[in-house]
Amino acid sequence: MLSPAVENLVVQLAKLPGIGRRTAQRLAFHLLSARLEDAVELARAIEDVKTRVRFCRECGNLTEAELCEVCSDARRDRSVICVVEQPVDVVSLERTHEYRGLYHVLGGALSPIDGVEPGDLRIGGLLGRVEHGGIEEVVLATNPTMTGEATAAYIADRLRSKVRVTRLASGLPVGGDLEYADEVTLGRALAGRREM
Ligand SMILES: [Zn+2]
Repeated sequence: MLSPAVENLVVQLAKLPGIGRRTAQRLAFHLLSARLEDAVELARAIEDVKTRVRFCRECGNLTEAELCEVCSDARRDRSVICVVEQPVDVVSLERTHEYRGLYHVLGGALSPIDGVEPGDLRIGGLLGRVEHGGIEEVVLATNPTMTGEATAAYIADRLRSKVRVTRLASGLPVGGDLEYADEVTLGRALAGRREM
């Protein structure tokens, strides 16, 4: 039905999360009728993020430099590290304006069923930052899901003897991702964090 080029675009778009075949088709036809400059700009934006953006050397957050904006900001409180699963969680926590410390982005959560072991996450880097000294508290802000809780428990076991370890307060939707929590709920969870 579709020409090979259009079919290919539909296939590529349908690989995106939350995009089914029908939505992919609608987007493909939208792009076909869009101005050439707009379509090219979209293609270039995708290429740009893939070539320019990398992981912060210190915390694993996304950055276009060696260090991310948080790590290179002298006004941040360097005695607290908030541990999250993904870079998008940093965005969510920053939106609350409740947190002034540093971050550590694990790059996922422990899930033996999916083959995600401690060595696949940036856990060694986190232990190294704590060993290095100056850290007074590690806030575990992994998702309130089974894998997120397992990851928090694993890290707490390794850090508890070295530093104060806290977990976001309950009140976050269980089984949901941090990414979808509203600012007020997330801010409250942060303010009410408990010892772990
Ligand atoms: Zn960083």
